[in-house]
Amino acid sequence: MTNIYQRYYKEKCDKDGNIVGIETTCDNNFNFAYDVIDKFADECPDKLAMVHRSTDGVDTRFTFGDLKILTNKAANALSALGIKRGDPVMLLLKRRYEFWISILAIHKLGAVAIPTSHMVSSEDIKERIEISGAKAVICVNSEQICDKVERAVSGKDVIQIVVGDSYKNTVSFDRIMEDASAELDRIETDVNDNMLYYFTSGTSGAPKAVIHDFSYPIAHIYTAKCWHGVEYDGLHLTVADSGWAKSAWGKLYGQWFMGTAIMVYDYEQFYATDLLKLISEEKINTFCAPPTIYKYFILEDLSQYDLSNLHTATTAGEPMPEEVAEKFFAMTGIRIREGFGQTETALQICTPAGKEQVKGSIGISSPLYNVALVDEDNKPVAVGEEGEIVIIPDEGKRPIGIFKGYLGDEALYKEVWRGGVYHTKDKAIMDESGHFFFIGRNDDVIKSSGYRIGPSEVEDVIMCHPAVFECAVTGFPSRNRGAVVKASIILKEGVEDTGKLGTEIQEFVKKRVAIYKYPRIIKFVEELPRTSSGKISRARIRQADLARLNKK
Ligand code: ATP
Ligand code: MG
Repeated sequence: MTNIYQRYYKEKCDKDGNIVGIETTCDNNFNFAYDVIDKFADECPDKLAMVHRSTDGVDTRFTFGDLKILTNKAANALSALGIKRGDPVMLLLKRRYEFWISILAIHKLGAVAIPTSHMVSSEDIKERIEISGAKAVICVNSEQICDKVERAVSGKDVIQIVVGDSYKNTVSFDRIMEDASAELDRIETDVNDNMLYYFTSGTSGAPKAVIHDFSYPIAHIYTAKCWHGVEYDGLHLTVADSGWAKSAWGKLYGQWFMGTAIMVYDYEQFYATDLLKLISEEKINTFCAPPTIYKYFILEDLSQYDLSNLHTATTAGEPMPEEVAEKFFAMTGIRIREGFGQTETALQICTPAGKEQVKGSIGISSPLYNVALVDEDNKPVAVGEEGEIVIIPDEGKRPIGIFKGYLGDEALYKEVWRGGVYHTKDKAIMDESGHFFFIGRNDDVIKSSGYRIGPSEVEDVIMCHPAVFECAVTGFPSRNRGAVVKASIILKEGVEDTGKLGTEIQEFVKKRVAIYKYPRIIKFVEELPRTSSGKISRARIRQADLARLNKK
């Protein structure tokens, strides 16, 4: 067993074994690709690193030894094209295994990776190339994506590399890999260099470009070890597209640090049944997915799948409805443990493995950070009071895993760090035992007749109604009350509103929460506005309501 992570990460425990602090260290030239991947490759080259299932259902297994060779080749190939330390390279690779080869190769060169969702438009790609100064784009060879990229790079000095066969005038990734040497002399990099530009999900506005440095992977040791609860030689599956930071959380750094293999499931269209089959066939041990995936899981007969190897299920990114978590537990005996964090940070709050998931809670502060709740003057709020989630740094030092800045937006960086603490723009309350309960994003909290209403609490109750599949609660402008509570609801398949269902749901909610919180407006919808990462955007519901009102 190779405990590479112990060189960088040390837990301090109290007498009951609770982790009360974590000390992290790293050398000035720490580079995850050389110091973790290549180390594993040198010590145990045949150890499994990744199982990849393609869209055609073909499994490919990669050992750490394979990864070392392939990433050396890719680094040499990119270097031959002129990519060097500090050069940004955009990756639009969906869940192709070339994503993992490319990103590690980019790390080896000391270049900056920009993982990007394939869902973004050509205009977005163009803008992102401009603000980042990207020198190359590596993308999948689908006509649609290649065309988007081609339009975005047109007239620019940007190399377009396409995995698989070459496409029009682009460079073929496979061809340059064939010619490249598998030997690479370590290129010097600095731990403070920029390593990643990640774009946020764009849930509350335009996505922001977040900069992380080469120390970022170390913060994810805690994510994989203590939250995902991964096992050495185990197989972990996080459902996330490679374009989002969630991918860095769940299928890259922490997992490989801990010596678990990652499962990559490359699908074009999501079917809960396919995913459940895969978990069963591949004997997945630890699993992480956004709440929506669990919403689909509980509609299936889970007893039809052998989930006996699965011992851990986790979720983050959006509020997890209690009802869904309870049903999943009743069906599988597994309590979904929640986590909370952002593209800007590593995991901030979670229910650690081995600890009981308190119903409705997002967990306790990660020992890596001092997470607290403050009011508008940055003063700590009392237990049970609503406050903004902030990270208070030790001695004013930027904690590990926290971003270096927003690319091209210093003013916003200063704003989120006002008063010397990092502001998440999310609201929560904390109980006596240190458990946090998510209320909503600052902008999503509804101010109605002098009350403050968190959408999460109302959504949780609406989700308990048997007719409801999914919902989003927002404030709807009201002259008298400031705003009233509105619920946009997707009904379960086969359920129809015969005119009375809205009132029935209102009565259902009134009985379960304070009366001022019930939704005065109910709208049944076919779908909810989502970001390209699949999150519900309450901001877009509000904007649409406002636009309709202004038209009148
Ligand atoms: P943008 O910043 O562009 O509006 P975003 O905030 O959704 O998009 P991400 O960094 O992907 O971009 O998501 C982080 C946010 O997701 C958090 O700030 C929080 O609002 C939400 N979130 C994360 N975990 C949870 C959770 N367990 N429960 C509720 N919300 C969560
Ligand atoms: Mg955000």
